[in-house]
Amino acid sequence: MLLQIQHITKCFDDRTAALTDVSFSVDQGEFVSVIGPSGAGKTTLLRLLNGAIGCDQGAILYQDEHFEAARGRRKRVMQKKTATIYQDFCLVENVSCLQNVLNACLPDMAALPASLGRFSRTQREEAVRLLTRVGLEDKLDTPVKNLSGGQKQRVAIARALLRRPLVLLADEPVASLDPATGRQILGLLRDIQQTEHLTVLMNSHNLALSREFSDRLIGLREGRMVFDGSVQEATPNVIAAIYGTAIPE
Ligand code: ADP
Repeated sequence: MLLQIQHITKCFDDRTAALTDVSFSVDQGEFVSVIGPSGAGKTTLLRLLNGAIGCDQGAILYQDEHFEAARGRRKRVMQKKTATIYQDFCLVENVSCLQNVLNACLPDMAALPASLGRFSRTQREEAVRLLTRVGLEDKLDTPVKNLSGGQKQRVAIARALLRRPLVLLADEPVASLDPATGRQILGLLRDIQQTEHLTVLMNSHNLALSREFSDRLIGLREGRMVFDGSVQEATPNVIAAIYGTAIPE
């Protein structure tokens, strides 16, 4: 199993229980969407999975290796098993698409070549290949600030893939895009997931898009996992149990 989440509990300092006893596993090549109302714990789950925060109880295993217990250098090695894309892209606006993608190499480079931006030929070729894969081969030298939202998310996807992650974590990746562009971006992610056997774990408040592009849905409500099943198994009753009375479109 690629990823195992075992009895995870996370409380914040003010004693808010963001997640309580959450357990599920993800196989390589799956596209899983985590759904649920605002405040259900979706973002907290992703932050635990990329190591931004630690859990209070439970275990997270990537390829049977404990992630939550890793410290120091080992933790940094483990963190490379994931890459995250965000709603607001988190790119450097004033520099080119190519440079933004190459920036993914910086944490692994020695201080001097990193500060001088001395990337290897292989790194450059891979960055160009990935920008071509996401449809931006004609924007390599364009500053990110001159791109549309959808194009920015394509750059972010290319940057994430340069890290060769085991799992691509996507935190509301199309929430700031118009519906048509959002569908294009999820179509691209789905295509990459299927052709390159990538594993994707996405947070989304857009139920229709989650249903359309995922293999499987995880339903969170008030920090507890209330559903884990295929899109077909997520019947209206299941959706009502996840969202309460406010069933989204
Ligand atoms: P979602 O992504 O589903 O909207 P979150 O994971 O952001 O939910 O939040 C789950 C709960 O944890 C909410 O009650 C939220 O207020 C709380 N929470 C999230 N982050 C923090 C934090 N840094 N400090 C305190 N409470 C937090």
